[in-house]
Amino acid sequence: MSGKTVLISGIGIAGPTLAYWLSRGGFRPTLVERAPALRTGGYVIDFWGLGYDIAERMGLAGDIERVGYHVQEMRVVDDGGRRVAGFGTKVFRELAGARFVTVARSELSRLLFEESKGTAEAVFGDEVVALDEQPDQVDVTLRHGGQRSFDLVIGADGLHSSVRRLAFEPRRWSEKQLGYTVAAFEVRGYRPRDEDRYVMYNQPGRMVGRFALHDDRTLFLFVFESGPVDPAAALTLAAQKAVLHQTYATGQWECPRILDALDRAPELYFDPVSQIRMAAWSRGRIGLVGDAAFCVSLTAGQGAALAMTAAYVLAGELARADGRHDQAFALYERLLRTYIESKQRAAERFSAALAPRTPAGLFWRNQVIKIAAVPGVARLTFGADIIDRLQLPDYRWAADPEPALRRHA
Ligand SMILES: Cc1cc2nc3c(=O)[nH]c(=O)nc-3n(C[C@H](O)[C@H](O)[C@H](O)COP(=O)(O)OP(=O)(O)OC[C@H]3O[C@@H](n4cnc5c(N)ncnc54)[C@H](O)[C@@H]3O)c2cc1C
Repeated sequence: MSGKTVLISGIGIAGPTLAYWLSRGGFRPTLVERAPALRTGGYVIDFWGLGYDIAERMGLAGDIERVGYHVQEMRVVDDGGRRVAGFGTKVFRELAGARFVTVARSELSRLLFEESKGTAEAVFGDEVVALDEQPDQVDVTLRHGGQRSFDLVIGADGLHSSVRRLAFEPRRWSEKQLGYTVAAFEVRGYRPRDEDRYVMYNQPGRMVGRFALHDDRTLFLFVFESGPVDPAAALTLAAQKAVLHQTYATGQWECPRILDALDRAPELYFDPVSQIRMAAWSRGRIGLVGDAAFCVSLTAGQGAALAMTAAYVLAGELARADGRHDQAFALYERLLRTYIESKQRAAERFSAALAPRTPAGLFWRNQVIKIAAVPGVARLTFGADIIDRLQLPDYRWAADPEPALRRHA
């Protein structure tokens, strides 16, 4: 399938990973990102398992370890900041064979994008506004870049994917909201700092956590109970901040100081905690990957790794299908769907644990955390979720030698 062109919408995690592996498979990818530049800020993610394997195959594991964090403890505190529960995170690293790192999503995205540079055309500040599939190509209208045609189009444009909306009828997919909203922002110079510790404070139905980042920055993460959210009715930054002020107004611990810091934040990540369910991840010459296809939500703790895994498998299947993209799309989905659906079910079960809705629920959640801190119990409790059971296929890539591996050797 050498020289085939592929438009990839979205330069997050899945998009640049797909571009990298497609170019290794002999394709000519073009990346289009709506934002004017790579997104910065956001939140940190835990990274291990299959995602780590793919990062290693791209020669990136060392860089990710360098920019990442090695968290020692997850600590739950009460109104006065006293520790009420928590556990050491060494067991996660042990279960993952020492290949477990916490990294800013934006840093992972940057590293993946840098790796795909030179192998893919990249267009920032533009987006797909219309797709017209023909028998042998897809005619694409870009908001600013006019009309172009590609052999294939892949949506890697996240939870609110435009490619999904443009190419798939509403009855073919749904967004399942899990009843919470998540928000995150970072500031410089906040005190106190607890290096390599995730500190979390709860009241019924709401949680706020703090994590010390490099360069004297601190990340705050909020998860709070919320009713159904209309995805089309995006709030302004000021309105999002007002929601957080209202939700955490009676919060103790450092809540007043955190809300002061929020007022100074120029950016805020703010979204419902949702999953995407689809009847099929492709239609004709148009496919989806990552959150766009199957968002598992933050409570899976593995969405980025799954986005990378899916991108790797999709590129591999397209490369070996020799032009039969329908066959490649079908195999890609057959290999991953059951695995990803099990991650969605686990994430749904776990979603209430971040911010239990009642005082009793909160009490029991903290008891479970205390039990998990007993040596050996964490291994039993989390083992099944940490160890990936899926075997990554070994594809033969047309475009060897491996530039990334050489460069990082
Ligand atoms: C608070 C939080 C914590 C998380 N923790 C973890 C964790 O611990 N471990 C983990 O593995 N995962 C975690 N995740 C999930 C993980 O971040 C996502 O699953 C992952 O980023 C998905 O990658 P993606 O490339 O599919 O989408 P995204 O990373 O969302 O990237 C999509 C890209 O598409 C762009 N875009 C959007 N619309 C358009 C458009 N119309 N045209 C062009 N471009 C567009 C966006 O600007 C963005 O750059 C967490 C998520 C959240 C919210």
